[in-house]
Amino acid sequence: MEYTSTRNAACRVDASRAIIQGLSEDGGLFVPVGFPRADLGALAGLDYPALAAEILGLYLTDYSPSFLRAQAREVYGSTFGGKAGWVSEVEPGLYSLELWHGPTCAFKDYALQLMPRLLAQAKRSLGRTETTLVLVATSGDTGKAALAGCRDLAGVRVAVFYPTGGTSEIQRLQMATQEGQNLAVYAVEGNFDDAQAGVKRAFTDPALAAALAGRGVRLSSANSINWGRLAPQIAYYFFAWARLAEKGRLAPGQRVDFCVPTGNFGDILAGWYAKQMGLPVGRLICASNKNRVLTDFFETGRYDARRTFYKTESPSMDILVSSNLERLLWHLSGSDEAVRGWMDALGKNGGYTVPGPMRKALQADFAAGSADSSEAAAELRRRYEQNHYLCDPHTAVAFKAAREQKGSAPMVVLSTASPFKFPRAVLAALGQPVPEDDFAAMAALEEYTGARAPASLAGLKEKPVRFTETILPGAIGGAALRSC
Ligand SMILES: *Cc1c(COP(=O)(O)O)cnc(C)c1O
Repeated sequence: MEYTSTRNAACRVDASRAIIQGLSEDGGLFVPVGFPRADLGALAGLDYPALAAEILGLYLTDYSPSFLRAQAREVYGSTFGGKAGWVSEVEPGLYSLELWHGPTCAFKDYALQLMPRLLAQAKRSLGRTETTLVLVATSGDTGKAALAGCRDLAGVRVAVFYPTGGTSEIQRLQMATQEGQNLAVYAVEGNFDDAQAGVKRAFTDPALAAALAGRGVRLSSANSINWGRLAPQIAYYFFAWARLAEKGRLAPGQRVDFCVPTGNFGDILAGWYAKQMGLPVGRLICASNKNRVLTDFFETGRYDARRTFYKTESPSMDILVSSNLERLLWHLSGSDEAVRGWMDALGKNGGYTVPGPMRKALQADFAAGSADSSEAAAELRRRYEQNHYLCDPHTAVAFKAAREQKGSAPMVVLSTASPFKFPRAVLAALGQPVPEDDFAAMAALEEYTGARAPASLAGLKEKPVRFTETILPGAIGGAALRSC
């Protein structure tokens, strides 16, 4: 499979190069030039690692099938406790695809456990000997998932920067206690935007690049614009469908609707790729929190990022510019020129409008819905009281959109984080008293629901804190240099 850039039709690279490079030189995202067909019959009986290797093999054609099978087995086997692609029935016709049984309790493990290995292999096959330094600005989930996925990997180092006033206490400890010899974690004075702006400056700082080059180091990002982060997410759509078919929950030829709590548009776009590959998907429902840029876009065809930014209880969806949408725009328009125009307008005027036929094409595949904080909290409580099903605040946003959009087709909601990652917000939504301390809240949530917190979260309390340094945003470049 070849890849091109959304902003330059002349560009052609293989998957290895797309993964090493992350972003095309023209600023565009790498996209596959076609959609491979999946053989649904052959996928039906496979376990998760085997199915993931099959799907990845269709896109990563320059990797050997045996390499992909071995990596998928290591990554999606015991580290997910046998629960990779776990589908839970919430009520008849409504299912939850629980994507948080991995080591860091968020769906980002599916991509970030694998991507660093794909990167290391790409460097080997292209004969690249430099050290890759992965810089991450995180509001919580990405940083921890990148640390866990890169831990002690040869030729790769990671420096994570999280805002002092941004993550939950659980999320902070997940990062500050991370083990591994090739990792560094810094708290950055300020909010997420301060940390992100500091990391962006580091990426474009020529003095830093020169100093790093002197040490044989190149910078890379673990952000979801990398094809190596998107491709692994396609597999779980196929796996969920296969589980429903196997349980006799699908009439012959029946399509499945998926509802996805969305931020950067990576997770839901993976579902759209699955549909293009022949998976019987009905509608993809894009669920947003109060930052409902995408809801408005799918309704009106106008993308408008010039609006108030809200901080919510679902912080991983607090986003105004959803980078992966650019891939969809390219596939639907088939025009790098059109994409360049829209992205220019987004940069200059904060928005753009797609033409009518394109809006219709978008609406054929996607529906959209949103939930503000009180609606999401009410939904979380409703699912618990009606179905005894406990979900996290991100997933609650999707359950609300799913309820509004439910038709006759089975609906699968993608559940993206463990509720125990956000114990205080979950208790508040359930109308329970909320202890100040996250661990006390975790215990209270166990007590109230009878559910058990994942051991990797409950065990954080006893783990020694390794990283304690707080820096100013301006010191991020220096810290990156020190960390390698
Ligand atoms: C990252 C994240 C999302 C959003 O996923 P995108 O691929 O950015 O759309 C939703 N929920 C949780 C818990 C996340 O960590």
